[in-house]
Amino acid sequence: MHVVVVGGGIAGLGSALSVARNGHRVTVLERDNTPMPDSADEAFEWDRRGAPQVRHSHAFLARLRNLLREHHPDVLEALYEAGATEMRFGDDLPATITNFERLPEDDDLVMIACRRTTFEWVVRRAALANGLVTFRTGVVVDGLVTDGAVGRPNVTGVRLADGSTVGADLVVVANGRRSALADWLGDIGSPTVPESMEDTGIVYFSRFYRLRDDAEFPPRTGPIGGDLGYLKYGVFVGDNRTFSVTLATPVEDDQLRKLLADPIVFDRTAGQLVATAPWLDGRAEPLDPRVHAMAGLLNRRREFVVDGEPVATGVVPVGDSVLCTNPLFGRGCSIAFWGAHLLAQAIEAFPDDTREVALAYNASLQAEIVPWYLSGVQQDAEARRVAAALLAGDDPDGDVSDPRTFQRAVFRDGLLPAIRTDATVLRAFFRALNLLTTPEAMIQDADLGARVFAVWQDRENRPPEPAMGPKSRSDLMVLIAA
Ligand SMILES: Cc1cc2nc3c(=O)[nH]c(=O)nc-3n(C[C@H](O)[C@H](O)[C@H](O)COP(=O)(O)OP(=O)(O)OC[C@H]3O[C@@H](n4cnc5c(N)ncnc54)[C@H](O)[C@@H]3O)c2cc1C
Repeated sequence: MHVVVVGGGIAGLGSALSVARNGHRVTVLERDNTPMPDSADEAFEWDRRGAPQVRHSHAFLARLRNLLREHHPDVLEALYEAGATEMRFGDDLPATITNFERLPEDDDLVMIACRRTTFEWVVRRAALANGLVTFRTGVVVDGLVTDGAVGRPNVTGVRLADGSTVGADLVVVANGRRSALADWLGDIGSPTVPESMEDTGIVYFSRFYRLRDDAEFPPRTGPIGGDLGYLKYGVFVGDNRTFSVTLATPVEDDQLRKLLADPIVFDRTAGQLVATAPWLDGRAEPLDPRVHAMAGLLNRRREFVVDGEPVATGVVPVGDSVLCTNPLFGRGCSIAFWGAHLLAQAIEAFPDDTREVALAYNASLQAEIVPWYLSGVQQDAEARRVAAALLAGDDPDGDVSDPRTFQRAVFRDGLLPAIRTDATVLRAFFRALNLLTTPEAMIQDADLGARVFAVWQDRENRPPEPAMGPKSRSDLMVLIAA
């Protein structure tokens, strides 16, 4: 089978790697002109306008690491050789956790610390080494080619921006969050692709740094981020002694948005936040003079199987082109790679029938990945409500009859303190964050519920939770004023 993959980001690379390793010929068509460099640092300089999020912090979750460990262990090894490191659950626990004992399942709870460009560089190198993959860069796809049969279209290739075509037995569309696939399908006569979309309500600001030669990372037993309501933030370890800081503001906060785009104000702000201040105490220097900003961050999901049938055969979407999620959850790459893996499995099950491939792949997607998407959308709706109330100067917990007020209280005064003290709750929380369970696993676990509830009931007997930064937005504004 010859598979054409549109887009060489995470989903495209994951598809190319898995499909080629199953013995199929693969051609990847990537719009960005990104020749293969010799090092991770050169890959960081890639012009990746087609995937501008590579300039932002990326978490690589245990779900993704485990897929590599189980199916492509050599790629995991190559990542470590390229300077990525492991972040193992249990290695950097705060002293407040006193009941930790390593369990066999903790071997699954390992994240990869790596820059996004390094990840792409290593996976692309592995895909190319297979010999069945051709990677064409600087090539823009702008439509689909069909065999002209009646009924739902059957795709037989892609059309490039220069008017030429590339034939395929299957087209895998992995062209990211701004994918035009729905339009391309419309152009060839497919039924409309249903789409649901919610703005996450946040804007991302990120900056990358590298430790100075004589410096070390600060102790990693403390928190790695915080949610102040008016500002969310985190610090992410990368490969080769790099790290990045990301600050996220509500979309509506024009004033803070303008300020954070300035590198000096960005660093000053990060210096006021409990989890990032130690990282910016002079031990590191910026890798890039700029702060990178990114807005228009959506939760978006598209349905390519309508009324039980694929909208077209010979074409399947993977990664952000089918569903993309709030970056704050750090799930997108894991979901993209996971989706690529499910697709490769469907191709192996039905190598001669692209309709069955689309149906089998869609069934796994709906069962395994869509529930994570839906739970993220629900959490975002609540976060947006709270941010809007704070920006308007209202108390988001003012209405005690609202069940969300109680849920927030249990989260704030039960779950969060329990995470700081109880290894069992922390483990369950991390397993969910890393997509190793189901979204409902924590609330369905009676033992966990009892542990969290006990902490919540004890809330009057302990000091308030430590603030993760200036208590109010106006306090922050005073602190970062020039
Ligand atoms: C600000 C931000 C921060 C994020 N942080 C995280 C994180 O911490 N952890 C995480 O897992 N995920 C994170 N994500 C999500 C993650 O980046 C995406 O989910 C992931 O990149 C999806 O992979 P993809 O291959 O589907 O799309 P992309 O990686 O966007 O790749 C699409 C590729 O298609 C190419 N392309 C587009 N159109 C065409 C065309 N017409 N012809 C040829 N090529 C084309 C593009 O150039 C690009 O290379 C973040 C996203 C954002 C926006």
